[in-house]
Amino acid sequence: MTFTVAIDGPAAAGKGTISKAVAAHFGFAHLDTGLLYRAVGAKVLAGGAPADMALALDPVDLEDDSLRTPAVAQAASEVAVIPAVRSLLVDFQRKFAARAEGAVLDGRDIGTVICPDAQVKMFVTASAECRADRRYKELTGKGMDVTPEGVLADVKERDDRDRNRATAPLLPADDAVLLDTSDLTIEAAIARAVAIVETAKNAVG
Ligand code: C5P
Repeated sequence: MTFTVAIDGPAAAGKGTISKAVAAHFGFAHLDTGLLYRAVGAKVLAGGAPADMALALDPVDLEDDSLRTPAVAQAASEVAVIPAVRSLLVDFQRKFAARAEGAVLDGRDIGTVICPDAQVKMFVTASAECRADRRYKELTGKGMDVTPEGVLADVKERDDRDRNRATAPLLPADDAVLLDTSDLTIEAAIARAVAIVETAKNAVG
């Protein structure tokens, strides 16, 4: 039997860090599904047509450091509105979720659309200011030339688009556990997430 952990939430809430740590703790595979949309967004910025780029996506496309820029993040959220792009990416994500060793997928619609039967669903949030502050530190730490105001505006714009799109909007699954990381250290947030997964694993047996 497969074991899938679905972790959704808005930009820079800590999903990526928590997902990686949970996957490492339990020996599960991890997929950052935002990278799929970022890779398509990057190819569209380079002149490609969104659905063609989603169809031609190759797993090696995800291993590109340049996908982490704010411009690519915006392009990702723009292509993520297009139903054809989303549906072309479903199979890859579901196959990943079925990996024998167990899987953690993080994104926006994992618990609601991609893996509605996941054994664990979490919705990781934090205030917009807190998320923007973390993202600002992350981007400047990588040497990117950004301002706190610019990063906050970028995060809010993407959240708004992600929450209000017609297809697979960002929202918690009915049975998701909410994890607000605003006042938690990263260690505390990871410990909570690991405990949530541990409880579910024990219940499955
Ligand atoms: O998670 P990340 O910030 O890398 O995601 C980039 C964009 O990709 C998001 O703003 C969102 O529009 C889109 N996305 C999505 N569904 C997912 C993951 C990401 O729509 N499962």
